[in-house]
Amino acid sequence: MSDHKIQDLHVHRILIPAKAVHSHGSGDVAGIHSVIIEITTDTGLSGWGEASPWPVFTGTAEGNAAALHTYLRPHLIGQDPVQVELHLAMANKVLVGHPEAKAALEMALLDITGKISGLSVCELVGGKMRDDMGLSFSVANPDFDADLEDIAAMWEDGVRIFKFKTGFAEHSFDVMRTEKLRNLYGDEIDIRIDYNQGLAAYDAVRCIRDLEAFRPTFIEQPVKMHERDALAHITQVIDTPIMADESVFDPQTALHGAQNRIADIFSLKVMKSGGIRRALEVAAIARAAGIEVYGGCMFETGLAHAAGAHLMAAVPDLKLQCEFYMATYYAQEDILTAPFPVKQGRVYVPEGSGLGVDVDRDMLKKYAVAEVLQ
Ligand code: MG
Repeated sequence: MSDHKIQDLHVHRILIPAKAVHSHGSGDVAGIHSVIIEITTDTGLSGWGEASPWPVFTGTAEGNAAALHTYLRPHLIGQDPVQVELHLAMANKVLVGHPEAKAALEMALLDITGKISGLSVCELVGGKMRDDMGLSFSVANPDFDADLEDIAAMWEDGVRIFKFKTGFAEHSFDVMRTEKLRNLYGDEIDIRIDYNQGLAAYDAVRCIRDLEAFRPTFIEQPVKMHERDALAHITQVIDTPIMADESVFDPQTALHGAQNRIADIFSLKVMKSGGIRRALEVAAIARAAGIEVYGGCMFETGLAHAAGAHLMAAVPDLKLQCEFYMATYYAQEDILTAPFPVKQGRVYVPEGSGLGVDVDRDMLKKYAVAEVLQ
């Protein structure tokens, strides 16, 4: 029990344009369409949270705004903000799905709990195993020359991990790009491949084998999220590690994924699992099964990135690093009062109590897309 009570939950839906359109096996994305929440207490504290859905993957911003404002908010007013698991249980009882809304709720409650206790979010969920992590940037521009310019600029910034988004055009385009990058940067570059479900299951093994020649670190989600048997088969026959992203959301799908060895790696995302605590459970299942984890993100502002950084800082072992790059390299602007901490190709876990970041309210106004539903 704390001496604090939740006074209100404010919902803001925002759309921040991207610097360039990104193409994926599951479609194009031109900006960050997020729901930002602020939970206030009767003692003057604010906790911030973000729901960053992707309609072809987890859900919609409109649906998550309604979930937070109409369905969750009434249950939270007057409650003790530090009873995080109790409020997550309520959210699961009154609302099916919407893991992004539940992630935003947990984020804001942990932010407040951190501010009350003087601890950071990663300390609240187990402690900090590392101060910083390698940053992966996703190469997803259909104009490959523009991508090469971006890669050259980021190489200067110290970024060495690049993830190719593949499966949205001809297979020969994927082979050409991967070969070119390997030849240009040699062994110094760490190349990863993400199909975003873009391959047909019957033809996936042949396509992946062509790309294996260029020594990618892993191949992510080659087939549709529900084609789990096909994914397990690919994992069995391909030497390069296979990562499940869309096929593993939460502890339940992670357990099935581990029991059936559908992949060698699981991508952890606070938006898929419904928050940091559930993502740590996915990581625990993975660890017990000898499956590696990776710090993934959706189309997020620096606020959700901060939550992701705290999550990945608390994971006991992390070999494959993370991809919290949107706020720094993808969005035209961010909503934080200070830049999300990226230096020399590494993400630094924000310092301070709670999430360790603050939201600029003027940015919420500038990028607001609609008044909240009543
Ligand atoms: Mg992915």
